[in-house]
Amino acid sequence: MYWEKDIETIPREKLEALQLARLKESVAKASSSVFYGDLFRKIGLDPNDITTLEDVRKIPFTTKDDLRDHWPYGFLAVPKDDLVRMHSSSGTTGRATVIFHTLNDINEWTNIVARSMYMTGMRRSDVFQNIMTYGLFTGGLGFHYGAEKVGALIIPAGSGNSKRQIQLMQDFGTTAIHIIPSYALHLSSVFEEMGVDPKSDTQLAIAFLGAEPHSEKTREKIEQFYGLKAYNSYGLSEMDGPGVAFECPYQNGMHVWEDNFILEVVDPDTLEPVADGDGGELVMTTLLREGMPILRYRTKDLTRIIPGPCECGRTHRRIERIKGRTDDMLILKGVNIFPIQIEKKLMDIPGVGTNFLIVLEREGFNDLMIVKVEVQKEFFSGDLKQLEGLRRRIVEDLKSDILITPKVELVEPGTLPKSEGKAVRVIDNREE
Ligand code: AMP
Ligand code: ZN
Repeated sequence: MYWEKDIETIPREKLEALQLARLKESVAKASSSVFYGDLFRKIGLDPNDITTLEDVRKIPFTTKDDLRDHWPYGFLAVPKDDLVRMHSSSGTTGRATVIFHTLNDINEWTNIVARSMYMTGMRRSDVFQNIMTYGLFTGGLGFHYGAEKVGALIIPAGSGNSKRQIQLMQDFGTTAIHIIPSYALHLSSVFEEMGVDPKSDTQLAIAFLGAEPHSEKTREKIEQFYGLKAYNSYGLSEMDGPGVAFECPYQNGMHVWEDNFILEVVDPDTLEPVADGDGGELVMTTLLREGMPILRYRTKDLTRIIPGPCECGRTHRRIERIKGRTDDMLILKGVNIFPIQIEKKLMDIPGVGTNFLIVLEREGFNDLMIVKVEVQKEFFSGDLKQLEGLRRRIVEDLKSDILITPKVELVEPGTLPKSEGKAVRVIDNREE
């Protein structure tokens, strides 16, 4: 059941001692980069000043802007010849940040992805279809290498081409998939269109859901439709990519592989550590990275540490599913709203289809939220006007949660823009 029992179940004191030893090395390595070299000189930090794990707080935070300002090579801690691969973030705003890896970096990353997949029950007998974009995005190659290390047969399908995905699953007996949750919902309507029932007509047993926030309800929907177990997979390119945190069979939070990373949760406004179990922004430090160590990176992802041990016996702490990003938060009439709150409510309402879109407009001095919701195929008779009851229910349910009254528009199944990558949930037409 464990990929590496000793390290996965290592007692906390030993894990922390290992982290400290690795943190010292990581800080020493980082000091050879232009960025950290300058920073440490400026603040007078010597790698030898790190004598306890708490001393990580002596290091200032690193932000996406720091990565951008020192693009492309300002964070390199090794000569360029030692690098074997680059990846980049899939960010839509500003210049994508790039991350460089040595061969050891790739091997360590591959190992935590393999460890994560193995934890959910994937084995060499599995047929793994990777429905993720290959290329600069880490979801493709990251999972590919991990699955190869586990020894599964990989179908490197890439994203898109929905009918072909389903054909591949049927022809080659796919048992495990890696898929973006919004795409999994979309793909379910293509299954229906083709008259294929994944529960009886495929051998699917495991799905890895990653790359974007999704609610427990969406997981349940996917598990029920496909007849499989779906595991939440969290990662970001700055910390390798997938494999950073992953759900175990207990599906209660994601274990962060603390032998590879230091995990902190801070208040995004004061940047002070929050109390154990409280919500805040996830901050992470690489412990094994050679090519491009990154210390105290502000991920912008909001979560909390789930206190207490996990029943699976692993000692690496768990984080709760990501609630959203600090930069995803919508402020409307002074109310803070995360798109995932809307998703959560919508997925609970019978008759709601697989896709929705939030559009923000300004009317005079007022902000207006329009939620466009696809209707489920079986509910749709050809006339949206007959579904006024459903529309009202959506307005009421959303209002009870987000405290403002959105305008809800029902749309026909399959008519909202689909994305093969991360879903675009919000279009903000308000002017500055
Ligand atoms: P990238 O730019 O491709 O490195 O994307 C990393 C970002 O994707 C993270 O910082 C998160 O905001 C988001 N992300 C990745 N996996 C998950 C997940 N399982 N749940 C929620 N958000 C995720
Ligand atoms: Zn566990």
